[in-house]
Amino acid sequence: MFRIRILVPAVALILTLCLLPAQAEPLFRGREAIPSDAVILFDGKNLSSWAYTGSDKPADWKLAKGYMQARGGDIRTKADFGDCQLHVEFWLPLMADKSGQGRANSGVFLQGNYEVQVLDSYGLKSEVGDCGAIYSIHTPLVNACRPPENWQTYDIFFHAPRFDATGKKTANARLSVLQNGVWIHENADVPSPTASHGAPDPQKPGPIVLQDHGCPVRYRNVWVRPLGEESPKP
Ligand code: MG
Repeated sequence: MFRIRILVPAVALILTLCLLPAQAEPLFRGREAIPSDAVILFDGKNLSSWAYTGSDKPADWKLAKGYMQARGGDIRTKADFGDCQLHVEFWLPLMADKSGQGRANSGVFLQGNYEVQVLDSYGLKSEVGDCGAIYSIHTPLVNACRPPENWQTYDIFFHAPRFDATGKKTANARLSVLQNGVWIHENADVPSPTASHGAPDPQKPGPIVLQDHGCPVRYRNVWVRPLGEESPKP
């Protein structure tokens, strides 16, 4: 009798486990290789390269298992950058009860002013506010999004705007972006800051900013390669 009492639930448990759908394999689990000349902005250990925007308050995003998760406001790098190659990896929560801009919204800003949108846009026909967009200016060439709850990558190639000695702009900012290895912007012309159209373009290097839009979006493995004379040396 005792054996039956143990055996029946055990068999039932094994059958249940066998019948459960297999756990989906994450599409991207690793960390991309870091070039030898990169400045590491976040390696999963601490937020020492970051502060909250508009203040010197140390960034206090949640730190766990090699990633940081948005909370308490946007964060910026303490160092400023002009022309650069930036790598970030991001993970979006599934927010099935939300839609549009409320669904896993965040963003990566170059020079503090030019946002590459982060959003759960999986499976959508991308528009100018969707993931991968240069926000409200350029729609990505293709929707390269992975489903939420998978790590994704951005590799961003940024040229800051140029000015002559009198402060007159001579060239717009330019952005090329790979999302998950797919070319989604090719040297896109960016005539104004994305955050506030009509605001002047910055004439000095600026921080890289990660947006806290009230969604528990995660980042990891963030590094930058400053390029050209517009950028400070590490
Ligand atoms: Mg955003």
